[in-house]
Amino acid sequence: MGPVVADGASLTGDRTQTRLALELAGPVEYQVFRLRMPDRVVLDITNVEFTMPAATGRNGRGLVQAFRFGAFAPGKARVVIETAGPVRVEATRLIREGGRGRHRLELDFVPSMSGDLSESEVAAARESAARLQLGDLKPTPSPPPPPASATAARVPVIVIDPGHGGVDTGAQGAVGVEKDIVLAVGRALERALTASGRYRVVMTRSTDAFVPLDRRIRISRENEAQLFISLHADSLEARELAHAIRGATIYTLSQSASDDRARQLADKENAADILAGVHIPTEVGQDEVKSILFDLMARETAGLSLNFRQLAAKRMRGSIQFSRDPQRSANFLVLRQAETPAVLMELGYISHAEDEKQMLTPEWQRKVAAAITAAIDDFFAASGKIFR
Ligand code: ZN
Repeated sequence: MGPVVADGASLTGDRTQTRLALELAGPVEYQVFRLRMPDRVVLDITNVEFTMPAATGRNGRGLVQAFRFGAFAPGKARVVIETAGPVRVEATRLIREGGRGRHRLELDFVPSMSGDLSESEVAAARESAARLQLGDLKPTPSPPPPPASATAARVPVIVIDPGHGGVDTGAQGAVGVEKDIVLAVGRALERALTASGRYRVVMTRSTDAFVPLDRRIRISRENEAQLFISLHADSLEARELAHAIRGATIYTLSQSASDDRARQLADKENAADILAGVHIPTEVGQDEVKSILFDLMARETAGLSLNFRQLAAKRMRGSIQFSRDPQRSANFLVLRQAETPAVLMELGYISHAEDEKQMLTPEWQRKVAAAITAAIDDFFAASGKIFR
């Protein structure tokens, strides 16, 4: 049986009691639990597909500030409801509506004095995070191109990392969302690189799936990537600046950020797992010996990352709008890779009307992909050590 379609959601009520109602084409199994810091209610539903507009849930009401929804783990979808302070889930009910099998899932929230979680809620949150770790979301690497000769059999592995996905939508524009734009660019880049026959490409995600940050790093490590490119789109909260600030920026890893704005951005991108309702600590740097090794290897890797950032800025500058200071650095978790040169590209500002319009067009997406491909060619041509 295919997934049950969820085609609508609404909020009613006020700050004394708020109801979230989800409109469904059939019955579903679900589970509700709360998370703290920030206060959220998580609704996990088995075998559901959301067809409501991406903007649904952006505007809050009563005790609900906003909610977002999407795929979470195989066969499992998630709604993350941000609440104004701690709430209690007073009631949940699944009601059959009419004769055509339609159902409505209702959650009633009331204010709560204490945000303390019950043991069963803590267990539910743990179990859902564990399931995600076990979940079989193996990326499907594209087949290696046929070797031109026996000596050229080894081609560099490039990992393309479209940011966000599933329940984690990323930044939201007037029309589009970050997760869709970066997936489209990622796919265009995958096609361009594969067509060249010079690289093997591995995608951290090639569908609208949620992938935790540490799994993105693991995919890179397990495939012994020689270059890791994380794709994102930025946005500004401040409306008064949104029309003025635009353009792409390329980031490398640094312990301390190049500027305040870069630090804020890294905090935002690093919070992806928290927003999706999972906390999975990264393995990197957890034991001391590992961290010394990390530093030694990372020094060489950091140099290569800077090289690539510069080459990419040069190639991309000619084809797309750049920000005023397009080469920056900050402490992005996903870039913490000792052996793989890694950059994070913010391809533009989804909060800027013109940037968003362009980023949504296939022509622009192909243009960016072509520019990044040219930079990758430059990078491997310049480092004979890797490109043998
Ligand atoms: Zn992002």
